[in-house]
Amino acid sequence: MLTDTHVHLDFPDFAPDLDAVLARADAAGVKRIITIGTTIEGSRRALDLAERYPQVWATVGVHPGNATEAPDDVQTPLRELAKHPKVVALGECGLDYHRLPSKHMLGSKDAVLSEMPLNDPREPAAAIRDGAVKSTQAVIFEQQLDLAAELGLNVVVHERDAWADTLDLLAPYTGRLRAVFHCFGKSPAHAHEVLDRGHLVSFTGIVTFKNAGEVRDTVATIPAGKFMVETDCPFLAPVPFRGKRCEPAHVRTVAEEVARLRALPLEQIAAETDSTANGFFRFHSR
Ligand SMILES: [Zn+2]
Ligand SMILES: [Zn+2]
Repeated sequence: MLTDTHVHLDFPDFAPDLDAVLARADAAGVKRIITIGTTIEGSRRALDLAERYPQVWATVGVHPGNATEAPDDVQTPLRELAKHPKVVALGECGLDYHRLPSKHMLGSKDAVLSEMPLNDPREPAAAIRDGAVKSTQAVIFEQQLDLAAELGLNVVVHERDAWADTLDLLAPYTGRLRAVFHCFGKSPAHAHEVLDRGHLVSFTGIVTFKNAGEVRDTVATIPAGKFMVETDCPFLAPVPFRGKRCEPAHVRTVAEEVARLRALPLEQIAAETDSTANGFFRFHSR
């Protein structure tokens, strides 16, 4: 049996054919699915799905990409939602510096800016806006870390282009909660920084991409019990579905590639990752 530990079933992509999507997952041996909150409203929708389908569980949280539109206080609504017995973690929460205001600007004015003889080629105003977005993301992340520690829940962490700051913000919580660095795409050395602090990683369809050499090394060498598998659907469909809508059934393809890279049978990877997911998310414990 397989657990897809990170999906976005509440996204409109799945509205037309959700029952068929879930039937295909079941047929592929995917018996448990965790649908992930990215906004307060989305967390509510995730819980509705968990109530409707016995194999679906939910997390509640605010994604860093939605931090600037989130209420100042996300703890109050998330605390209320997290009372539900099918909530298995907080998140996804974290830091994402991939689309900061200055990067949008660089995209449009690349040529002009690259000729500016400055150490920091961004306009000061954009740098200030970047700082504001980063600090809002940090505040929303910390609110969710505090709430997770208070409620005894673990957290699903989203980190993109913000490695050092994410580890710094998590540091005070070591021992009080565990995090899974989802959609992990980094080197074995980076993975060990996460594991040494008591956290886990999880792998998506990226491990099937031919240009993903670093993370494939991580998959091959990471100790058993320290990783899970996910699709992050509707994004990141594994090869040979790359570019199409991803769905939970494809976590089998992710697990097959993990098994191949570790030279182990799929059944063993399925059993190991499922038991890791059980330990981390503690289904049925509340
Ligand atoms: Zn994410
Ligand atoms: Zn996600």
